[in-house]
Amino acid sequence: MTYPIVDDEVIEFAKSKKAVLLVEEGQPDYIEQNIHAVLRRADVPTKLHGKDLLPKAGEYTPASVTKGILEFVRKHGAHLLNEGNLPVVVRPSGDKPNSIPAIIGPDKVHGRPPSFCTGCPERPIFTALKLAERETGKHHVSADIGCHLFSILPPFNIGATTMGYGLGSAGASAFKSADTDRGVIAFMGDGGFWHNGLTSGIGNAVFNESDVLTVVVDNAYSAATGGQDVLSSRADNVLRSTKHPIEEAVRGIGVKWAKTVTNTFKVSEMRETFKEALTGKVKGPKVIVAQSECTLNRMRREKPEMTKKIKEGKRVVRERFGVDPDTCTGDHSCIRINGCRHFPSHQTQIRCVKIQLQQCLIPAWDADFVAKLLMLLCSAHRFIAQKLLATHLYGIRQSRLCEMQ
Ligand code: SF4
Repeated sequence: MTYPIVDDEVIEFAKSKKAVLLVEEGQPDYIEQNIHAVLRRADVPTKLHGKDLLPKAGEYTPASVTKGILEFVRKHGAHLLNEGNLPVVVRPSGDKPNSIPAIIGPDKVHGRPPSFCTGCPERPIFTALKLAERETGKHHVSADIGCHLFSILPPFNIGATTMGYGLGSAGASAFKSADTDRGVIAFMGDGGFWHNGLTSGIGNAVFNESDVLTVVVDNAYSAATGGQDVLSSRADNVLRSTKHPIEEAVRGIGVKWAKTVTNTFKVSEMRETFKEALTGKVKGPKVIVAQSECTLNRMRREKPEMTKKIKEGKRVVRERFGVDPDTCTGDHSCIRINGCRHFPSHQTQIRCVKIQLQQCLIPAWDADFVAKLLMLLCSAHRFIAQKLLATHLYGIRQSRLCEMQ
């Protein structure tokens, strides 16, 4: 804990040191002033550095902190430095970094923006919003801090402003003025909602009779910070009280229109709920709770259980997904609208098909040949070939659907 300072601990830590560097982000330098006072009153002569070596304001990036640490070490431990092998960020400009041979080149892995994890249940929420907006028109989207903030990046490009953790709804209220012609939607995660969004956003929207739709992305954890439980988590937690529904909380504070979608992968249900909220006659704040468990944390929960069962010789069933040939038209809408990463390029498609074929025990050179042939068909007659490819993959994956590990 950084505040209040525990004087004895600071003195005990500092008294045997020649100098100490304090990394305190933000301004003013409250903690630095406090520690100075503690050390001087106790007559501890240790030199204290802080904002004399680090930026006075702004974000403390790895580069800015590295520069500060370098200055600190130059002052008090220059003999520890190997000036010829400094990190790239602190080298003089023009000084080329040691070249590190690329293990994987751009021909194998191509650039892509940061995005949701594969299988993330938040992706379809934004797909549904994009589909709903085709009919309702565009909205100003006030984003928040959390995994769902990836929606501001391609292919979604949703989200015009982000104020801070739990402040999506508070920000949205500010944009919903009488003279705006755009509707406003706020996003926040379950972590931000319980952190302060319930009062700063929803409570104020009720108080101000603000006609704003807030979407609470309820993935059952504070997922972006590592999967800690929050009040609405569905987990049994022996130390905490969980399972408090978000919808009940917002109704309790005065929201009249609130709906919970319990499976965000049902895109049509999500889309219809958006349309209902955005075009309905009910005035005042509205809340959609978009619920689905964070895939990453679900895997963390399920994998050890699966491994245990396998060790005990019990049967386990692992979910596999494939392309539905009756749905896929080969128009890449899965990439354009949903940002699915699985078939991003022709070469990747070939490799993907090849891996699938090899898993079917087709020899490597055969798999390579068949994969290329399938993709050639794709180019020659795109629609039919895509259908063939989809059917083939689907068949393979279906045959591996249930497997004894
Ligand atoms: S951590 Fe969970 S919620 Fe966040 S992007 Fe990954 S799967 Fe989605």
